[in-house]
Amino acid sequence: YAVRCAYYSSDMKTRLENNHVLLAEVQAGLERDEFIYYLQPKCNLNTGKIVGLESLVRWKHPEKGIVAPGYFIPVMESNGLITELDMKVWEQVCQTLQDWIKSGHKVIPISVNVSRTTMLQPDFTENCRRLKRQYEIPDGYLELEFTEGVIVENHDIFREIVKGLQEHGFSCAMDDFGAEQSSLNILKDIPMNVLKFDRRFFERGEYEERGRAVVACMLNLAETLKMETVAEGVEDMELVDMLREMGCDFIQGYVYARPMPAGDYREFMER
Ligand code: C2E
Ligand code: CA
Ligand code: CA
Repeated sequence: YAVRCAYYSSDMKTRLENNHVLLAEVQAGLERDEFIYYLQPKCNLNTGKIVGLESLVRWKHPEKGIVAPGYFIPVMESNGLITELDMKVWEQVCQTLQDWIKSGHKVIPISVNVSRTTMLQPDFTENCRRLKRQYEIPDGYLELEFTEGVIVENHDIFREIVKGLQEHGFSCAMDDFGAEQSSLNILKDIPMNVLKFDRRFFERGEYEERGRAVVACMLNLAETLKMETVAEGVEDMELVDMLREMGCDFIQGYVYARPMPAGDYREFMER
């Protein structure tokens, strides 16, 4: 027999204990409805007009203030609480869209992030459709963002989910493309509507020329596949100019606007 040993260090013990504390805190936060969402505009590179918004969850923590998702999403993902969170954000976004429609405010599509666990729930598509119906959201105003890593593992399941969603008026985006090992097979197999390039895709440095050639090719390919292209995390005008030249459709990043509380968005638009 091969003998296998696992070492359990005190460091691991501390980490586990910390996770437990955080988990209990997150659970209490969910019960107290402390999770809200911010909106970040996505704009057309040529006209400067806002064409969409991405919802980004935040925890309105009673002591810590506004907390970004990097702090609480990993622990929620490890135990399934993430689905409850995703659906809460989803419902708040639907409510906002309904309010805008009813008040005659200009309505812009909003996208929401979907975690791996949420997407693989058997009733995921049905839940999305139910909320869209319940809040009377017309086709084309809700977009779902799936991260590339999730899709790589489940091509067949994912294709069926995407098709089912598109048939019911949802738009589907592939998030974080270029962040990890990007697979061209995904683009071939799954008819997504939007391709979002991760900021790491545009990193400058020793291989900048090569990087640009790849970006230009990918933008062309996306156009041929009739996918909209979004460059994410754009922080400077130099990159905006380069992306415009290369034919990228939209940008989202600090250069244009940071994520803001949903309530501040109207004021931002007026400005
Ligand atoms: P993401 O979907 O890739 O979202 C983009 C992240 O980049 C956001 O971080 C945003 O604030 C940040 N960002 C935007 N523009 C710039 C820029 O110009 N420079 C830099 N350095 N960063 C920029 P955030 O809000 O901390 O969210 C982190 C991640 O958490 C998101 O990455 C997404 O994967 C996840 N997430 C956010 N909301 C939800 C949600 O409701 N459900 C799930 N499952 N995941 C969510
Ligand atoms: Ca996203
Ligand atoms: Ca992203």
